Amino acid sequence: MHRYSWAPIARLRAEPGLQRVLLRSARPLVFMTSSDGGRPRILRLISRKTVFLPLLLSLLIQLAMSSCSPRQPATQSFHSMGTMASVTVAAGYRERLPQSAEVVRAVFRRIESELSTYQRDSEISRLAEAAGRSPLKLSAETYRVLELSKEYGELTLGAFDVTVAPLVRLWGFGGQARHNTPAPELIQERLRLVDFRKIELSEGTGFLPAGMSVDLGGIGKGYAVDLAYEALRRSGFGAAMVDLGGNIRVLGRAEPEENWMIGVRNPFDKEQVLGKISLIDGMAVATSGNYERFVEMSGRRYSHIIDPRTGYPVEGMAGVTVISLNATIADALSTGFFVLGRDPSRDVLRKLPGTEVLFIPDRDPVEIWLTPGMVRLFSPLPEFASSVRNL
Ligand code: AMP
Ligand code: MG
Repeated sequence: MHRYSWAPIARLRAEPGLQRVLLRSARPLVFMTSSDGGRPRILRLISRKTVFLPLLLSLLIQLAMSSCSPRQPATQSFHSMGTMASVTVAAGYRERLPQSAEVVRAVFRRIESELSTYQRDSEISRLAEAAGRSPLKLSAETYRVLELSKEYGELTLGAFDVTVAPLVRLWGFGGQARHNTPAPELIQERLRLVDFRKIELSEGTGFLPAGMSVDLGGIGKGYAVDLAYEALRRSGFGAAMVDLGGNIRVLGRAEPEENWMIGVRNPFDKEQVLGKISLIDGMAVATSGNYERFVEMSGRRYSHIIDPRTGYPVEGMAGVTVISLNATIADALSTGFFVLGRDPSRDVLRKLPGTEVLFIPDRDPVEIWLTPGMVRLFSPLPEFASSVRNL
């Protein structure tokens, strides 16, 4: 069932009897140009092990030249909010690429200082500190993302629940690393602190009952991407793509006759792309996967997405990619649908025009399940055409 074939993983911390690993390079979505038939070009080149060195070199030179071509989009990448971020602008805006990156970076920095659970003085950390004591005055942005979190909690029948924070820490994500799985009694105890309906929002303030805390890891990046997208628009950019750890939103088109194209990676082999999604102006895409962040305990791998109904990490799903009208919805729903699973998600989707989903169950061989609208937007590579199933 769990067949993972990637090799290059970055081991963040290795303690005796415990492996805590994070796949940093496995961005689940990649930007592609119209000339990318299959894998991202650089991966195609590197993985051809039999190629002669001179041939490889000449191809690399070509690659370098093509990525510098003034007619092609240009990208600037940087580290932000604990992951890789990038801004890509269409050819007409190449000269203003550094400015676009600065605009986006400033937005991400501001949102991180408000929403991060890692920064002790962020609003979200202070909200947890004040839990059970007093309401806390929140910025308009934090207030809004909490309102939306409650909304998507309702919509996904509780599968998306930002108050899952005490369980996220218990399982060893964002807190103390663990050697073995938590005791069932402890899980039950923490479960009593999980219920997004108990987040009280009123007149710009937020309040949590004692012991509760919030983790916006499943929605905050999408929210930040939406704000960055708006900031780019206001700064006069007409064609750009913002990516924050696989939460992507596009503005305009990549080229006059070309939509922005996003490659969906194979969760079982990160060097492979399963197919391409074409995004039209304003749309967003996000992926939740069990391969980007996980902990290993007693030889088993546990996903960082917790089922708030059971208190245990979700099993059975390898990846969920959501396309939607903005990046906040795409982010929240990819996490929520990862928990809900394929068939229950379908009922939720009926209430959501403009949202389409691609599910990849955690089993071998790979299956790619598509909602009807996704069938029109997703083109599988020829070798994965027979893996596609319609929902
Ligand atoms: P994503 O990669 O967007 O799917 O978000 C996963 C992150 O969201 C995790 O690392 C946790 O911080 C948080 N999280 C885990 N389980 C849930 C859940 N059921 N609902 C909301 N957020 C969650
Ligand atoms: Mg998410």
